[in-house]
Amino acid sequence: RLKEGRALAQDVWSIFNAANLPSDCINLGQGYMNFAPPEWITKAAEEALNKVAPNHYSHPRGRIRLREAIRDFYEPLFGRSLDVESEILVTSGANEGQYSVFVAFLEQGDEVIMFEPFFDQYLPSVTFNGGKPVYVPLHPPAPHIEKPTSDDWTIDIDEVRRAITSRTKMIIINTPHNPVGKVFTRAELEAIAKVAEEFNLLVMSDEVYDCLVFDKKEHVRFATLPGMWDRTVTVGSAGKAFAATGWRVGWLIAPKSIIQPTLAATTRIVFCSNSPLQEAAAAGLEQAKKHSFFETQCAQYEERRAVLIDAFDRLGLKYTLPEGSYFILLDISNLDFPEDYPFPESVLGRGRDFRACWFIAMEVGVSSIPVSEFYCEEHAGIGEVYARFAFCKDVDTLKAAAERLQNLK
Ligand code: GLN
Repeated sequence: RLKEGRALAQDVWSIFNAANLPSDCINLGQGYMNFAPPEWITKAAEEALNKVAPNHYSHPRGRIRLREAIRDFYEPLFGRSLDVESEILVTSGANEGQYSVFVAFLEQGDEVIMFEPFFDQYLPSVTFNGGKPVYVPLHPPAPHIEKPTSDDWTIDIDEVRRAITSRTKMIIINTPHNPVGKVFTRAELEAIAKVAEEFNLLVMSDEVYDCLVFDKKEHVRFATLPGMWDRTVTVGSAGKAFAATGWRVGWLIAPKSIIQPTLAATTRIVFCSNSPLQEAAAAGLEQAKKHSFFETQCAQYEERRAVLIDAFDRLGLKYTLPEGSYFILLDISNLDFPEDYPFPESVLGRGRDFRACWFIAMEVGVSSIPVSEFYCEEHAGIGEVYARFAFCKDVDTLKAAAERLQNLK
């Protein structure tokens, strides 16, 4: 299965890795923060390390303190009670949780619908498990829109319908969306829900950026739509929530019928997630309210977003204003660079955006991620006109990046 194509191609994160770029390059590529989680959370990690039990295996479902914290945090948001013994599963990052769902549910040839662009891990995670990705476009903003927002990336529900065959098993939703920043509207999700019901689909709702929604936009949890709880697995992430992407602590919330087989898979893949950091994630969820943590964090991200937006406005380049997540897509179709630049092998043979992002990183000193990676090979051309910049960095770093980017003029 892993002999050819995308499966063996070098992933974008290791090409545009700090290790391959000049040491003074400002990293707005892979989405991770240049600041630590708050001290009241890291303190909980230290405390956990100084006890015996959290240095050892946890229950494969996750540590009970974390499962209870997830329950207490999400019950009001889901508007239902959540059972810590059967409806919550702690995973080694959101990624492993999603992978385990595919292991548990996909049979050879099962089709999985995903909106394109899609977070790049979905593709190999589906194919490694014998599934077949089926792409439905998230249509880019119409060219006449002067100042597009992520809301201008649209779906056509008839295209979803037409993508369904007798082999369709699952649909993946990602809201807020990576890399577009789109926060799907209630109407869009309701239309998808209708299709899921009609064709009896399993729904994976990747909501890892649920705490990063801007401009008072409403984040709708797919599992809360009428009739959807029974068929939906919601994916969450401590890394995104608490600025701790290296912890590898995530969670799944779903009915027992989904959690049970997924637990069997995750137990065999990793047995359990990192124990001390589960304690820290629990402390984060338990005390978030007391510290007004998510409200403050959102306001900080709006400020960070404003720095990059201002930089792109000054440059006169078009971009998509994101309503969620921490990514901005910059339109690089009018950006010139010398095609005879000394590009490394890893970016030659890929889309024009790979060369553009490489050039910007080397010459301007700011790294970003080429967006064709979020498209299948056949549709890479659609993504080639964008570079994705992450704004999960402190304001001073973003301001420095903003100044450097002016050299693109
Ligand atoms: N979610 C991160 C991003 O999109 C990357 C995660 C990964 O490296 N696989 O930047």
